[in-house]
Amino acid sequence: MDAPRQRSLHQTAVEQFQRAADLIGVVEPTRSILTEPKNEVIVNFPVELDDGTWEMFTGYRIQHSNILGPFKGGIRFHPDVDLDEVKALAQWMTFKCALAGIPLGGAKGGVTIDPGNYSTAELQRVVRRFTHALGSNIGPEHDIPAPDVGTNSQMMDWLMDTYANICGPANRQMVKGVVTGKSLATGGSAGREAATGRGVLYALRYWCGETGERLDSLSVSVQGFGNVGSHFARLASEEGCRIQVVGDHTGTIGAEKGLDIEALSVWVAEHGGVAGFPDSDEMTTEELFSTPADVFVPAALENQLTGPRATGMDCRLIIEAANGPTTPEAEDVFADRGVEIVPDILANAGGVVVSYFEWLQNKSARYWSEEDVDERLRTILWDAHDAVVARRAELGCTRREAAYAVALDRLVEVYDRRGIFP
Ligand code: GLU
Repeated sequence: MDAPRQRSLHQTAVEQFQRAADLIGVVEPTRSILTEPKNEVIVNFPVELDDGTWEMFTGYRIQHSNILGPFKGGIRFHPDVDLDEVKALAQWMTFKCALAGIPLGGAKGGVTIDPGNYSTAELQRVVRRFTHALGSNIGPEHDIPAPDVGTNSQMMDWLMDTYANICGPANRQMVKGVVTGKSLATGGSAGREAATGRGVLYALRYWCGETGERLDSLSVSVQGFGNVGSHFARLASEEGCRIQVVGDHTGTIGAEKGLDIEALSVWVAEHGGVAGFPDSDEMTTEELFSTPADVFVPAALENQLTGPRATGMDCRLIIEAANGPTTPEAEDVFADRGVEIVPDILANAGGVVVSYFEWLQNKSARYWSEEDVDERLRTILWDAHDAVVARRAELGCTRREAAYAVALDRLVEVYDRRGIFP
């Protein structure tokens, strides 16, 4: 399903913020500071496999900006992880947190690995060795990882446990917040797992409020049925949306009358993917994109909506649940055709916002109910959508440019006030 990478992803990310920087007149040195990450940590470490042999792995932690707060962002386990990708993802985190108005910076990490090829025990050793290799480059007041593609709450629990053991007995209880997206038992937050998908639903609701559309009259296609895509599809179908096509790494399925998302989730848990789901038609990957739908939700990897695909798509709204799913060529095609895009830094911010809540709860050792979390999440995201719509009206630009402009307004103000050292 992955399209070949046509240009540097980091270059795409930089161009996105520079367009908004041009619009609002951001000057040096802020522009240059935000163009490159502050720190790039690359570690190579050995892990013992179950058969007794050793394998070397490469891991990354790119710390883009901590002007607004500690570096923050997920850790990805995927075979395509490389420096360019992680640099782009780290930059997007800075703008995502700034736009959400939470006091966190931007970072991202990753290990070049296909987790499906390793046992649970091997993955645990990879997580622990990677955490150990990162050492003091992460910390609850310094840089706070979280799950991303190919990682989950179990891995975050192992990360936290490893870090706590490195820190020594006197600090063990203080370092729970070194990572978010942990299991509830280990200090995670209620509502964290569904948070990104829930935020994507809020983006859809917000658009319905703007346009007068009704959720229960919309057809939706979703690319990706991992943590984000599956929770979004479930929540949207509960609100009456017709989820008509779903694609993942195993295949694409569709049903004109809408897919039974609850049954599909059970199927995917048992079979590892959507392919073969009963009561659905098998479709090609290209049909995932070309089948007409009111809303298309890319919830997989970057660069999926390419120029040629965009030309063949028939939808009115794209909500970027994934990071960087739309290539610049596709963006131009959508703009020409009046297809609205809710950009990634706004659409998928729900995850990091509830990560922020988890970090706050860890600091205070007081835990909030799921209703409380969801309501606070809704308030923060709604404010971010409102801010983007207001800025868009002032600037007369795309929603993406307006989202970057709001984030840049906040970043620039802090740089202006603090200045640079020495
Ligand atoms: N990996 C998620 C993202 O791309 C969540 C990051 C976090 O919670 O820190 O936004």
